[in-house]
Amino acid sequence: MTRDADYWAARRAELLGQMESDEAALQAKLSKLYENQVVQLEREIAAYYQEYGEKNVIEYRKLMVSLSDKDKAMLIERMDEFAEKYPQYAHLMPVRESIYKLNELEGIQTSIRLQQLEIGAIEQSELDAHFRKQAQRAANLAAEELGFGSNFYGIDATVVTDTVGAAWAKGKAFSQTIWDNREKLAAYLNDDFAQLVARGVSYDKVAKSMGEKFASVASNDIRRLIYTEGTFLFNEAQAQVHQTDFDYYALSCADSRACQICKDLQAEQHLNPARFEDRAPGINFPPMHPWCRCSYTVEVGDWEAWIDRYVEQRGGDRASIRDPYRKAKDDAGVVNLKLHLERDKSVFEDALATAKRNNKNGGSVDWHAASEMADWDTYLSDDMMVGVAVKEDADITCVFKNDKSKYRGAVTDLILMARERGGVKMDCYGKFLVNSYEKCGYEVVARVPFNAEYVDDPLLLLEQPDVYFLKKTSDSIDEVIRKIASKTYHQSTQAELDSLPTFDYDEAWKYRDNLLK
Ligand SMILES: [Zn+2]
Repeated sequence: MTRDADYWAARRAELLGQMESDEAALQAKLSKLYENQVVQLEREIAAYYQEYGEKNVIEYRKLMVSLSDKDKAMLIERMDEFAEKYPQYAHLMPVRESIYKLNELEGIQTSIRLQQLEIGAIEQSELDAHFRKQAQRAANLAAEELGFGSNFYGIDATVVTDTVGAAWAKGKAFSQTIWDNREKLAAYLNDDFAQLVARGVSYDKVAKSMGEKFASVASNDIRRLIYTEGTFLFNEAQAQVHQTDFDYYALSCADSRACQICKDLQAEQHLNPARFEDRAPGINFPPMHPWCRCSYTVEVGDWEAWIDRYVEQRGGDRASIRDPYRKAKDDAGVVNLKLHLERDKSVFEDALATAKRNNKNGGSVDWHAASEMADWDTYLSDDMMVGVAVKEDADITCVFKNDKSKYRGAVTDLILMARERGGVKMDCYGKFLVNSYEKCGYEVVARVPFNAEYVDDPLLLLEQPDVYFLKKTSDSIDEVIRKIASKTYHQSTQAELDSLPTFDYDEAWKYRDNLLK
C-alpha cells in the first residue's frame, strides 16, 4: 500500500469510534428496557408466592428434607395418597403440584417466555436500525475511497439491505440469534424458578437471583451480538463496495490485544493477501470469532497501475483520486497545483534544475540528482514548474517553484501534499521559508548558525541566513487545513528564531528527530 493507506486507515478508525459510541448509546437504551423487564418479572414471581403463600413454599421444602425416601416417593408419585396419610400437610399439596405437575408453574413459565419474546421484538427493531446505519456509513466510506463522494449510498441501498440481516455466523442471521438468545434465557429462567421453588427459597431470594440472572445474561448476550455483528457489517459493507474495484485484502487487527488467531492471520495475509471473492467471516475475514473487532486493509501491489486502470475505466482526474482532501483544500482556498506523482526522476530533476535557475532564491532549494531520488516520492504541478520530494525517511526536500509558473501561493498545496504522503519534517534557510512552513502546520524547533563553508550561492553568502529545523505539529490533516483557512498558525519572529536551541547540523537533525519520536 502507498501512504494513502494512512488516511483511509485513520478514517476507518474514526468510523469505528463513531460505531462504538452508537453501540454504547444502544446498550444504555436496552439496559433500561431490561431494568423495566426485571420489575415485571419480579411481579410475576410475587404473584406466584402470593397465590401459594411464601410460608408454604418454605415449609414444603422443610417437609421434603424431613421425609423418608419412601414418603418422598409417595409425595411425588401419589400426592393424594400422601395427603390422606398426612392430612397436616394437605395444604402444601398445591405447592407440590405447582412444582411437579407444572400446571401452575406453566403459568409463570409462559409469562416468562412471552416476556422474552416481547423483549426480542424490541431488540430486533432497535438493532436493525442501528445496523443499517453502521452498514450505510461503512459502505459510504468505501465509496468515498473510490471517489464516489461521501453520500453515495442511501439507507435503503442494496448494499445496506443485503448486508444487514445476512446470515454469516454458523448460518445464522442476527435476528435468529436474538430469538435463540431469548429462548435460551426463558429456558434458564424457567429452570431456575422451578429449582428455587423446589428448594424452598424465599420470595426475596428468588426475585433477586432471577432478576440478576436475567439482567446479566440479557445484557451480555446483546452486547456480544451488537459488537460482533457490528464488526461483520463494518467489514462486509465496505467489502461489497471495495470488491468492485479491488481484488485483494488483508486482515488488520484492531490493536495489540487482538487474539493470536487474528494476529497470525494478519501476518499471513499481509504476505499473501486474500481475494475478496473468497472471503468468509470466521475463516479468513473478520469477525473471526465473537468479540472480534478486526478489520481489513485493501491490498494493491501497484497503486499507480491501479489508478491508471481506474481512470481508464471510469474516467476522472488522477490527482483527485489520489487526494481525498482536495475538497477541504478547495474550500480553504488552497491553490490547486494539480500535483501528480512524477515517476520519471529525470523529468523531476529537469524541472528542479530549471526552477533553481529561474528563481532568484533558487540557491535555497536543495539540489538532488535523479539517481539519488530513485526511492523518493516526487510530485510536480501540471505545468511542471512547482514540485516537492518526500524522502524515504519522511524528510521533505526540493520544495521548488519556477518564477515562470502561473501559480501564486503554491507552497501550501505542495506542503500539504508532502504531509499527506508522510512528510513529517524539513530544514530550510531563513525566516521567510520557516514562516511559509509554519503556516502549513509545521513548527520550528532548532537553529544552525549560517556556515559559509558549505555555500556558494551569492545571495545566501550575502544574506547569511541561519538554517532552521522543523517538524510537523500533532494536528491531523483536517485540522491543518482548517487552521490554514483560519490562518491560526503562529509565524515566528526573528527574535523568536534567534532564541531557538542552537546546534551544529547533525546535532540539530538528531534533536528534531528525537522530538518526533
Ligand atoms: Zn479479531
